[in-house]
Amino acid sequence: MKKLLLIAMLFAQATFAQRTILHCGKLIDVKQLQIQSEMSVIIDGNKIVDVQKGYVTANTNDKIIDLKNKTVMPGLIDCHVHVEQEISPNRLLKSLTQNEADLAFESLQYARRTVMAGFTTVRDLGGSGVNIALRNAINKGLVVGPRIFTSGKALSTTGGHGDATNGLRADLMHLHELNADVVNGVDECRKAVRQRYKDGADVIKIAATGGVLSLEKDGSGAQFTEEEIVAIVSTAKDYGLKVAAHAHGVEGMKRAIIGGVASIEHGTYMDEETMQLMKSHGTYLVPTIIAGKSVADSATKPGFFPEVIARKALEVGPIIQNTFGKAYKAGVKIAFGTDAGVYNHGKNWMEFIYMTEAGMPALECIKAATVNAADLIGNNNIGSIEKGKLADVIAVDGDPVKDIKVMGNVKFVMKAGAIIKNE
Ligand SMILES: [Zn+2]
Repeated sequence: MKKLLLIAMLFAQATFAQRTILHCGKLIDVKQLQIQSEMSVIIDGNKIVDVQKGYVTANTNDKIIDLKNKTVMPGLIDCHVHVEQEISPNRLLKSLTQNEADLAFESLQYARRTVMAGFTTVRDLGGSGVNIALRNAINKGLVVGPRIFTSGKALSTTGGHGDATNGLRADLMHLHELNADVVNGVDECRKAVRQRYKDGADVIKIAATGGVLSLEKDGSGAQFTEEEIVAIVSTAKDYGLKVAAHAHGVEGMKRAIIGGVASIEHGTYMDEETMQLMKSHGTYLVPTIIAGKSVADSATKPGFFPEVIARKALEVGPIIQNTFGKAYKAGVKIAFGTDAGVYNHGKNWMEFIYMTEAGMPALECIKAATVNAADLIGNNNIGSIEKGKLADVIAVDGDPVKDIKVMGNVKFVMKAGAIIKNE
């Protein structure tokens, strides 16, 4: 009997070994939109095994982390980043001079900055394909960064927002390496989605309308036909992939929503009718207000952008915040996303300021960056602090409800149970 008891005790100790207990002064319940006081989050390995009221006492081998003077919440999720790159006046030259290996090394600092800012998961919506290798390297623990869900390369039409040969010399426009994003017609669209799946993409990204940072003159007109979008969405569905659509103008947006995309990115000129269409199709809006503000700001610096981009940036950029406010009030589903890379990585949190300015309460903004974002990505292991979820947890000084700027001062970051930052 004594021997059995001893074995049971040893077993119990083994079971409880290496648990981490977070003592949280304040804990945000992102589903109920409530802040709870004096809570404990218990983590075993990479998972949350319990959330309890009060400060739970530790077993011998438990590690206690004191976050009693902090506000604790789930790791944040940004649904729209470009982790390979960061905006600069020599962006065009870089696109012609950098090899993929250069992009890869450069992306390491951006990935690190992102996770250190409390964004434990991101959805990368378009790059060279290095974003897939980066995702894998982070998953293997070779480099520090957020969990990445990536589209690999985006999809665009000829002359469209993702056609990197726009504005180049005629003989360079045919270089396949420069326009590998380009597809036209239903067959090419289907084939490209299958190729993205083969490349290892987690999501498909399309440019449904013109855009700001490309050398095309129209920043908002429709670019894919409805037929092409339907082909992309239905093929993506076959492979278990969702589709995200970049869209500024209404016509392209409507085609994308009706075609069945999961999210509209930016949504700049969205009108009342399109908001209703978003609601009836359950389509998410990923606002990227900070990207609009940032490009409009850069456009005022002489020589920062080519003339055609500067003009579009000043036209399109400032509109996004107001449209977001209207869409939120109309009841459109919102998932947090910023277009990081279009501004400096690590400042993703500033989107929270712009969202609250437009009328969304702080806790709802945090819900958009956790529960809603996880729902859009289609991953139910992340997005809240609950038993059974991956232990993605962050903490800030102060209370975001009283002052949203505290989101810019993340003191503690845990990703899948591993502490990445603890100041
Ligand atoms: Zn983007």
